[in-house]
Amino acid sequence: MRRETKEIRMGNLLIGGDNPISIQSMCTTNTADVMATVGQIRQLENVGCEVVRLAVPDGDACDALPEILKQVNIPVVADIHFDYRLALASLKAGVHGLRINPGNIGGEQNVREVVSAAKDLGVPIRIGVNGGSLDKKWLDKHGLSATALVESALEHVGLLEKFGFYQTKISVKASDVSLMVDSYRLLSQRVDYPLHLGVTEAGDDFAGLIKSGIGIGALLLDGIGDTIRVSLTASPVKEVYAAKEILKSLGLRKGLQIVSCPTCGRTKIDLIDLATKVKNALTPFEEFDLKVAVMGCVVNGPQEAKEADYGVAGGIGEGLIFAKGKIVKKVHESKLLSELVALIEQKEGIDFGINEVK
Ligand code: SF4
Repeated sequence: MRRETKEIRMGNLLIGGDNPISIQSMCTTNTADVMATVGQIRQLENVGCEVVRLAVPDGDACDALPEILKQVNIPVVADIHFDYRLALASLKAGVHGLRINPGNIGGEQNVREVVSAAKDLGVPIRIGVNGGSLDKKWLDKHGLSATALVESALEHVGLLEKFGFYQTKISVKASDVSLMVDSYRLLSQRVDYPLHLGVTEAGDDFAGLIKSGIGIGALLLDGIGDTIRVSLTASPVKEVYAAKEILKSLGLRKGLQIVSCPTCGRTKIDLIDLATKVKNALTPFEEFDLKVAVMGCVVNGPQEAKEADYGVAGGIGEGLIFAKGKIVKKVHESKLLSELVALIEQKEGIDFGINEVK
């Protein structure tokens, strides 16, 4: 059961409450380069990113924000460290969210100014505490622990509350998956603000995917989490695909799921090639809530994948097309993909627009 949180608004997106868990990513471009940044945000929008964060490290980045904001459709969050004036300038430029660490923008007066401007504009703030950059005060008191991360976050939240600000979202990310999970679990018992989940410095698109899947997945299964980011040392487009896959695999988002067997000694076809082709043919239609199976043998494939709406199972020179575990037809191996697509089109009333599927 999803934990209840406060609802906050970021641009045209509602976060928390019973709103869908949203997917975030972060641009890897130089924010001051408007063309490159807009190009990457559009790429991210196209694959389903719902919130994008931009580093705003200097005045040049700030100056680029109005033009960037004009050209994109999803909420943009300015990520600010050290200089509160950049936060004020980003708000003035029209960003939809701020991510700050109140501990490093230079004292309460600066925080008060930023908070007051954000409040006037109805812009939410994410308090982002990271295991790697935790205040010494908390490290000395509690060591690198869930308690230290949570106490640090709560101190910052308290500061915002002191200035009458409640449109807050919180993250307590860590690179260590157990620490990250423990921290969010503890935090979720202490506050009802929406939580942004992520494993930070997770690694490349192998290790990072696994660590994020475990950390974010464990919390989502607990009902914790309102927005997620899969941080990868890879294209942010991959982060969005990975986040979508996590949500779909937990039943938290509808959409196309392609499942395939690991193959074994019974497999007589090139299943990796077939699975890739099925994925490529169907991925552009991922908003359709279908499960499609690609199985390596006709003996067990249809039965093993009986939960799938549709599927193919390869044999020797031929294969089966099946639906919900029931065999629909036997076709030549070369026709497996085109016949699968044709069946889905016919049954679901979808036009994939693929005239020649090979
Ligand atoms: Fe092996 Fe067939 Fe199962 Fe695939 S579906 S793992 S080929 S038994």
